[in-house]
Amino acid sequence: MHNPGTATPDRFPARDRFPDGAQYIAGRPATGTSGRTYAVVDPATGDEVYTYEPAGTRDVDAAVAAAREAFPGWAAATPGERSDALNRFAAVLADRAEEFARAESLQCGKPLKLTREFDVPGTIDNTAFFAGAARQLQGQSAGEYSGDHTSYVRREPIGVVGSIAPWNYPLQMAAWKILPAIAAGNTIVLKPSELTPLTSLLFAQAATDAGIPDGVVNIVTGTGEEAGQHLVAHPDVAMTSFTGSTAVGRRVAEIATATVKRIHLELGGKAPFVVFDDADLEAAVHGAVAGALINTGQDCTAATRAYVQRPLYEEFVERTAALMESVRLGDPFAPGTDLGPLISHVQRDRVAGFVDRARAYARVVTGGQAPGGELEKGAYYRPTLIADAPQGSEAVQSEIFGPVLVALPFDGDDEGLRLANDTPYGLAASAWTRDVYRANRATREIRAGCVWINDHIPIISEMPHGGYQASGFGKDMSSYSFEEYTQIKHVMFDNTAVARKDWHRTVFGDRQL
Ligand code: NDP
Repeated sequence: MHNPGTATPDRFPARDRFPDGAQYIAGRPATGTSGRTYAVVDPATGDEVYTYEPAGTRDVDAAVAAAREAFPGWAAATPGERSDALNRFAAVLADRAEEFARAESLQCGKPLKLTREFDVPGTIDNTAFFAGAARQLQGQSAGEYSGDHTSYVRREPIGVVGSIAPWNYPLQMAAWKILPAIAAGNTIVLKPSELTPLTSLLFAQAATDAGIPDGVVNIVTGTGEEAGQHLVAHPDVAMTSFTGSTAVGRRVAEIATATVKRIHLELGGKAPFVVFDDADLEAAVHGAVAGALINTGQDCTAATRAYVQRPLYEEFVERTAALMESVRLGDPFAPGTDLGPLISHVQRDRVAGFVDRARAYARVVTGGQAPGGELEKGAYYRPTLIADAPQGSEAVQSEIFGPVLVALPFDGDDEGLRLANDTPYGLAASAWTRDVYRANRATREIRAGCVWINDHIPIISEMPHGGYQASGFGKDMSSYSFEEYTQIKHVMFDNTAVARKDWHRTVFGDRQL
């Protein structure tokens, strides 16, 4: 165990870095006007590391007004100009990579090796990807389809985008929302989770420092109920993109629908991890532990339901538990730490509740408790393996969002694939086999937005991320997400130059008016 430590300035000096408040509107930091104060808490220690005034509805109005004012100029910039700005943005982010990593580790409790090797480089790569994508905004179908006209399709930005992000990957979620939107010529107001505003603020400031015009990227930090809901309902917001839980996503969709906005929803997940009896068990066990524990299990694509074909099941359970026990919990800033705390004590207690209730119907093979000693003050929870839970039970069906893997046996391939599909979600899944036909069948039959074969978790800027079913609709990353932040317009030119067109007969009949 490592000493969690409390010396905030050595970790990330949040108070010094954001002295002017946790809003970022029209290229400048600002203080919220909700009349309340809120604290960002280091989940590894329970210490308050930054206090701020959350956004009220007036701040949301100001941010939307700034985005609206910036829209015509940014939309009129050439693709090359937007691309240059995003390339400069990527360079500024790369220069500040260590600062971003420390801020993200502080507010989320993520081990520094995760933020340094995953969150931050992934964000820089996304920025570089959308710098390239900005020059590839394609319409299609130019041609004379009617014979008398030339038709073509333009892709145009939508306007002001209002985005709402969760606390589990605050930097990457900000990037996934902001980058495709602005690359396509939109302007944006992003509301991060009130628990984790720091890296969204750094991101917006970096955009300004890279020369992206004021008002193109705005941040309002406030509660979902107040700032979030006002942003979703705002009449000057043309599109809502939301990442968060399915329950809140439903509510957001209802509000956005009432004002006829385009909606993009990235919601919860409960990813299956299907191990067939010919799988490389060593690979499957390592994949299951890493895939379940990444980001302390607070990952919408995390491996959560391991279905293991009967001949391998007992050995899988035994080896997975042993590997989980070797994972080192500790201070996110200590080099030897594998796993940090959950985001908060509230989330830790929620996870513990799922595990405690599971004891009545399943076997808790390892974990199932918070560690004591030096880690007691933090929101830590031991990596947990639950075995033999019934398919219909809460542990198998509900998103726990913590370091908890549930393992169940299956017999035939049909059964394994049927169980994999048997939740309301459909975000991600993996199948483990050395048989190409089984692998191919799994990719066809599992209903999820991503299916990995013999791996679980990797993502890449060029490929889409997004769900099926209750995991939402719309894609993040890739050219697919870029397209979602555009609308298409049919343009039709008359080629005949005659005053009395042939089709006018449908109005005038045979009369020569
Ligand atoms: P929540 O759904 O609780 O919150 C998400 C965001 O919505 C927060 O910024 C929250 O604000 C805001 N919000 C809450 N209520 C409203 C409302 N009435 N109107 C508008 N906004 C509102 O999710 P969590 O933050 O707990 O994040 C975890 C969830 O996110 C999990 O279900 C996870 O699966 C999902 N997720 C999905 C991903 C995907 O790509 N599909 C990726 C990452 C996470 P505040 O917290 O400030 O109150």
